[in-house]
Amino acid sequence: MPKKEAATFVAPDRDARDQALGSLTHVDAQLRCAFASDAFRPIAPSACASGAWLNSAVGAKDACGQTFTAFVPSRRIRRRDTIQLLPQGDFFPSNVAMSPDLDQLRHVCAAFFSPLRVVLMPAVTVAEARRTADLTSRVVDGQAQLRTCDVFEYLKRRRSLLPRPESAREMFTVALTSWDLYPDAGWSYVFGEAQVLSGVGVWSFARFAGDGSAALFKRTARTLLHEISHLFGLDHCVYHECLMNGAIDIDEADTQPLHACPVCLRKLHSCLSPDLHSRYAALQSAFSQAGMSEEASWCGQRAAELSVHARTG
Ligand SMILES: [Zn+2]
Ligand SMILES: [Zn+2]
Repeated sequence: MPKKEAATFVAPDRDARDQALGSLTHVDAQLRCAFASDAFRPIAPSACASGAWLNSAVGAKDACGQTFTAFVPSRRIRRRDTIQLLPQGDFFPSNVAMSPDLDQLRHVCAAFFSPLRVVLMPAVTVAEARRTADLTSRVVDGQAQLRTCDVFEYLKRRRSLLPRPESAREMFTVALTSWDLYPDAGWSYVFGEAQVLSGVGVWSFARFAGDGSAALFKRTARTLLHEISHLFGLDHCVYHECLMNGAIDIDEADTQPLHACPVCLRKLHSCLSPDLHSRYAALQSAFSQAGMSEEASWCGQRAAELSVHARTG
């Protein structure tokens, strides 16, 4: 994790948040309702405190924010419709306190990135992956770690071996690993990382266990949705309480929601154009089945508010 610095980040005010969202003059009634910023909380005061991500040496570069107008979508989204989730490492399907439920993760992911197809691939061990690419590892504090850039190289080589039609449909491949991760020798660990230009990412649940199965699942789901959103081209969010807020550690990440704020939702919508009423209804169902009642209830409320603007057909 990066070094903590003194507090210098100042939260954007209402005008700055509205400017980041951009003009809604020419959008339809459903989108105007979906992007109404009053339904979302401004970024939390804790995000401005010393020791928070936005006041860290690495996080400070995010402080200027990425407005909707400045957003540049990934080129890989063109004509492709599939996100591949690849479990990598050791999984314990019968022990949800040790390994998150992968099918429920896939379900949440498919709802969040509706209408994309999200496919859960068969798990590969690190030994199997090493037949395709060199995976550098190290042990820190008794924890086995993989270097993220090597995982990216593995994912890109694996992609080049995909048969058609999957190779033509694959937009992003994201590995979920039981191993801890590090980007380079200067860091102690990262929860996950995305290589945006290549459309690959990796995230780890190695540090998410120990507080029960609900916390493990929520942390893993949050990291998954966050990393994939990076692959679309979204930077860290400084405007609202948002899935795309950066986090310096697990305590800061635990305070952040699993929904996209209006600025980030508008960026995703510009890539995927889902019916937002149906999307929130699907998210409510996915979160509910995963036992995440708070998130299910929030999405249910948004679905209800958008129901008068629901599209049919
Ligand atoms: Zn991030
Ligand atoms: Zn946001």
